[in-house]
Amino acid sequence: MSVSSPAEQMVYSFGDGTADGHAGMKDVLGGKGANLAEMCTLGLPVPPGFTIPTTVCMDFLAKGTWPAGLEDAVSAAINQIEQIVGRRFGDADAPLLVSVRSGARASMPGMMDTVLNLGLNDDTVKALVDASGDERFAWDSYRRFIQMYSDVVLGIDHHMFEDTLEDLKEERGYFRDLEMEAEDWRDLVVRYRALVAEELDEPFPQNVHDQLWGAIRAVFKSWTNARAITYRTLHNIPDDWGTAVNVQAMVFGNLDDDSATGVAFTRDPNTGERLLYGEFLVNAQGEDVVSGIRTPQHLTKASREHAGAKRPAMEEVMPRAYGQLVDICTQLETHYCDMQDIEFTVEQDRLWMLQTRSGKRTAKAALKIAVDLVDEGLIDQDQAIMRVDPAALDQLLHPTLDEEAGKTPALKGLPAAPGAAAGIVVFSADEAERQARDGVKVILVRHETSPEDIHGMHAAEAILTARGGMTSHAAVVARGMGKPCIVGAGTLKIDLEEGRATVLDTVINAGDTITIDGASGSVYLGEMPTIEPELTGEFATLMGWADARRRMKVRTNAETERDAKTAIKFGAEGIGLCRTEHMFFETDRIIPMREMILANDEAGRRAALEKLLPMQRGDFLELFYEMAGLPVTIRLLDPPLHEFLPHSDADMQDVADAAGVSLDDVKSRAESLHELNPMLGHRGCRLAVTYPEIAEMQTQAIIEAAIWAAKESGKAVVPEIMVPLVGSGGELAFVKDIIDRTAAAVMKAHDAQIDYQVGTMIELPRAALMADEIADHAGFFSFGTNDLTQTVFGISRDDAGGFLNDYQRKGVIDRDPFVSLDQQGVGKMVAMAAEGGRATRPDIKLGICGEHGGDPSSITFCEELGLDYVSCSPYRVPIARLAAAQAVLSKQD
Ligand code: PEP
Ligand code: MG
Repeated sequence: MSVSSPAEQMVYSFGDGTADGHAGMKDVLGGKGANLAEMCTLGLPVPPGFTIPTTVCMDFLAKGTWPAGLEDAVSAAINQIEQIVGRRFGDADAPLLVSVRSGARASMPGMMDTVLNLGLNDDTVKALVDASGDERFAWDSYRRFIQMYSDVVLGIDHHMFEDTLEDLKEERGYFRDLEMEAEDWRDLVVRYRALVAEELDEPFPQNVHDQLWGAIRAVFKSWTNARAITYRTLHNIPDDWGTAVNVQAMVFGNLDDDSATGVAFTRDPNTGERLLYGEFLVNAQGEDVVSGIRTPQHLTKASREHAGAKRPAMEEVMPRAYGQLVDICTQLETHYCDMQDIEFTVEQDRLWMLQTRSGKRTAKAALKIAVDLVDEGLIDQDQAIMRVDPAALDQLLHPTLDEEAGKTPALKGLPAAPGAAAGIVVFSADEAERQARDGVKVILVRHETSPEDIHGMHAAEAILTARGGMTSHAAVVARGMGKPCIVGAGTLKIDLEEGRATVLDTVINAGDTITIDGASGSVYLGEMPTIEPELTGEFATLMGWADARRRMKVRTNAETERDAKTAIKFGAEGIGLCRTEHMFFETDRIIPMREMILANDEAGRRAALEKLLPMQRGDFLELFYEMAGLPVTIRLLDPPLHEFLPHSDADMQDVADAAGVSLDDVKSRAESLHELNPMLGHRGCRLAVTYPEIAEMQTQAIIEAAIWAAKESGKAVVPEIMVPLVGSGGELAFVKDIIDRTAAAVMKAHDAQIDYQVGTMIELPRAALMADEIADHAGFFSFGTNDLTQTVFGISRDDAGGFLNDYQRKGVIDRDPFVSLDQQGVGKMVAMAAEGGRATRPDIKLGICGEHGGDPSSITFCEELGLDYVSCSPYRVPIARLAAAQAVLSKQD
């Protein structure tokens, strides 16, 4: 039924069981148009119509004129509709009315425009009165059309129409629209037309063809309205996709009490249960459901009874149409092999389908639906794995906000660690600990956090900081702890002395309750209800399928027994990064750690290291037991100094007391250690080069713990000792020598043999460039993409949050490179290093342990490079397992 040749086809018709297009043509027809065509060919009841493709939209927006041939094609397509429905467009006796709707490739709900009841004018409205036998309905339809068309096409604010309606109701003593009689609606039409004439100095268009072209133009133009642009930016939808326009014969859900309009999901989008889920309104048009002016009714009797609702369900009042709807839902699911989200209208007991698409769902529902569809034989396991968004699994692993509580956030920051929590605001770690000891739930609010705050972070339900980015101290530590965290909430002004914070005009005092949603970065005043996670059977089933398909191993970044346990529960296969400096965050440990950093000479340092040795050994022993038989990568100390230096006099005094030196000594040493760029300062292997005794102590602790663990557990432990922030083969050779000498001495002293490996982080551009030389001394590489991103971009991990936000908002970058690996730039470095390493040592083990190790698209990239494993914080392990499986499957496509 094409109206022009396929190459230049400008209009795709559908109706009466046939269609020019099909579901695979979303790029051209948009989601709505493609699925309308598909439903038509399936023989479902779809009002006839046609789709003007997205290509025409882009052409029109570029040139401002209609492409040649479009007008003829549209006339021919209108003609086809006329023949199918037996009414004519603009005809005063039997007029055809149409809807004009947008429909892009990706769903952009409510972002673009729609016009209903088009084709009504002063003549055709009379025919509608005659045809429907319902004057009230006809005039109400006409006034709806004038209002919608004037708003969307003529640019007259809809409030003016709403005010006019309210005035009329007030004059005539009505409270509700339902009380209005036919003549009231007719009078309203007169007033609406006068309003248009006054606003535009010309009458409301009476020519139905002018109306149609005006609406088509407006819908195309709505692709570039501010809402749509913002939506596209937020959802990474390219600007050059354009929208299609769907013109379709009107069916009326507001004709009488045997008419209705509704939306339905073929399964419950919250739980995934196989039941018809949705709502409908008797005697209503689509916009009435969307606008929420009337409370919709249930579709099924069971759900009505469950909700204790009185008004009858569709199943009860329209059993015939309901039965047909149920059959169609089954047919659509079987056809699309997925849960569908549909829109329908019932006109005088006759069901019409207006839309179908894959329905959006929660992570819990996504898992259940994917697994159920496999059981039902509709999809295979590979497809099920691809159906679940790995990032969405986060929702299942942490408590989440009860979405129905819908409230506006008081403040927004960067969503650093997911989960929702409510508690009272405290501004210091000590206070957090004190209150938590008394059983009070607290949210720790700081400018930024440092190791001094660790006890408070432990005690708190969640952490909120005004500064910092996605890899700041607060973000990394909170993520590791599995606590909700928001960082870089720039509009939050904290006054520590007064014990209060302000956000614009809102004051938040210590002791006030707030709720944090770490998944969205939103902070709410007061307590919002949260929902506890539930790891259902489907979760384990799908994970099992994923594990059977993935090639890369998934390890975890963990320092504590608790983290290791959590990670094992989530399926970790080893530790890919143990940041030893994090093991000194506890209050009783930070003092000897500071003593070591602040010591004036080697003797002072060794004295402090003596205190640290048993602590380290004990920690490693716990980890080795917990991870029995699995690989454990332990990184030598890498403390950015500013995170460890004491700031207050009291903290400095504690260090002075412990070291037996004066406060002044500590102060002047702290001053001399002060660095302008601590991230680029005396950290990583640089520390081991200047102070070899630190690497010696750590090696001794690792090897001794390995010997003990092996003896007691009977399981061989293979520690992987990792040297951080290496930039040359020389640096690594120097530190490796210390490690090898110390390990040999320890093994000799204990008369034991431990297989250990020495490797390095690749986290500096020079390391990537010199990877072949570095691999001479490394058994493995682990990509530290946090530092690599920082140094390749030349931006600071701690400070970049603020301006990266602007970059994203203004479209300069798509995603925060600290969250998702910059594959073109930083990724090139990773690829180069992998190649360099393999050139020297073909069997070199390659992994990633930066935050990107838990990011699905970065994981896909790691699979492409053939890395051996990814390592991520414990709560991301399931995400990484699924993403790694998807990466393998998408390579096979
Ligand atoms: C990295 O730089 O990517 C890394 C894992 O180390 P850290 O975040 O501790 O610097
Ligand atoms: Mg690093």
